Amino acid sequence: MIKDDKCIFCKIIEKSIPSKILFENDKNLAFLDIFPVSKGHTIVIPKNHYKNLEEIPNNALSELFEIVKKVSILIHKKLKVDGYNILQNNFRAAGQVVNHYHVHIIPRWNEDGKFKLYIPKKQAKEEELNQILRIIKE
Ligand code: AMP
Ligand code: ZN
Repeated sequence: MIKDDKCIFCKIIEKSIPSKILFENDKNLAFLDIFPVSKGHTIVIPKNHYKNLEEIPNNALSELFEIVKKVSILIHKKLKVDGYNILQNNFRAAGQVVNHYHVHIIPRWNEDGKFKLYIPKKQAKEEELNQILRIIKE
């Protein structure tokens, strides 16, 4: 296993700090977020310490997302949620605090007053979009 001794999620994996585990197998772990955005807010992690999306190997990512799907369905059924956000922060600018790759499952209820992706009212000019496309694809 790849491990970082200073990482809080690695400590959760080795059970040196407690957590409320929803699902565990040899490669992945799902546990309740200690500062939940909503009831049932869950974190899913690989047991190997990969810092972000760019570090986690494709096969580990796909196995992790099988667990994300399984736990999402479980939460959907058991908590009778109306929906859920799957959210994943990479790097500090995007709000990543714990540098051990993880996926948030955030249960949502109709009109729950929680966050919504902010969509600006101002539509981009076609030339701006073309310019960005050129930069990314060149
Ligand atoms: P992020 O901002 O994507 O890095 O999110 C890290 C998440 O980990 C936050 O939602 C925290 O509430 C959660 N978290 C941090 N420490 C713990 C812990 N000991 N047990 C459960 N969740 C935690
Ligand atoms: Zn870690």
